[in-house]
Amino acid sequence: MKVLVYSAKDFEIPYLEQANHRKHQLTFFEDALSSETTMEAVGFDAISIFSADEADFITVEKLKGFGVNYITLRSVGHDNVNLRTASRLNLKVANIPAYSPYAIAEHAVALLLALNRKLIESNFRVNHYNFNLNNLVGFDLNNKTIGIIGTGKIGSVMSKIMHGFGCKLLGYDVEKNNELVDKYHMQYTTLENLCNKADIISLHVPLTTETYQMINEDLIYEMKDDVILINTARGSVINTEDVIEGLKKGKIGALGIDVYEKEKGVFFKDCSQDLPDDDLLLILNAMPNVLITGHHAFLTDEALTNIAQTTIYNLDCWESGQESEYELTEIN
Ligand code: NAD
Repeated sequence: MKVLVYSAKDFEIPYLEQANHRKHQLTFFEDALSSETTMEAVGFDAISIFSADEADFITVEKLKGFGVNYITLRSVGHDNVNLRTASRLNLKVANIPAYSPYAIAEHAVALLLALNRKLIESNFRVNHYNFNLNNLVGFDLNNKTIGIIGTGKIGSVMSKIMHGFGCKLLGYDVEKNNELVDKYHMQYTTLENLCNKADIISLHVPLTTETYQMINEDLIYEMKDDVILINTARGSVINTEDVIEGLKKGKIGALGIDVYEKEKGVFFKDCSQDLPDDDLLLILNAMPNVLITGHHAFLTDEALTNIAQTTIYNLDCWESGQESEYELTEIN
């Protein structure tokens, strides 16, 4: 199968090539899929995309018109693909449902620990031979309450890790996971109650119309003072302006994000010589109690291996005329 891999990054190409074993003709293209770059897919049977690629209504229509019949996502999230249009046009779409929930959950914990124990500031001081400890006080995680919003695959691993730290777990999800209740004494509750009680809140829901800007002014009002908010899910699950207000007022004590509402076109690129025209990002970057990573929670050897293997598996299935078990439908 002839496959155009959009948003191909140097760090993932060796994994894809190794998983492929020269079965499919992979062409790596650095730019993201957008209505402007769709033309590149002419002559390909399939494309592979990541979270920064945009397969909206028009793009999907164009792709089908160019003869592309398959889209294999190298991500869990698929909010960037118009599945309704794809399904109408019989263009098959598959994702990687679980390449490593550990990678994401562990990264969420890394953000939490770095913020709580002020590791960035501490290291900055040490680099300047300033060994003063003022304003570096954190708190024990033991006995604190963490609210986990979205208790699916990543939220479950997060629950296990935080239980290990001695935290009490509050959960919010449309579907209760009884294993978390039995093993880690998770208490499911309402979103408001979770916000009232949690010292730390970690987001693990997909981006959907229901979760879009779920964390907004009203919910922030319900949160405990000085709450630590961690978002490794999708940027638009939080209303960034409202969160900045919460940080300014001291309602939110610290914010750790691996994803950002306006990350498209900025993340995954070196913008150091031409700063993004984005005041919200500049404000967040200037705040000492905000820690931002550029959507790299997935960046572990295990996750990249699984992403590559499942991408090739999806292509193998389609080439042999079979369905992939990871195909997405409109209701996913
Ligand atoms: P999952 O499907 O296993 O879990 C998602 C959970 O959210 C499910 O339990 C579901 O019931 C719940 N949910 C869905 N809609 C909800 C709503 N409206 N209210 C409450 N709960 C709701 O998915 P996962 O593998 O745990 O991944 C979660 C998300 O993490 C992905 O959708 C993706 O956006 C994000 N993610 C980010 C990275 C990264 O690199 N930062 C990597 C992978 C995944």
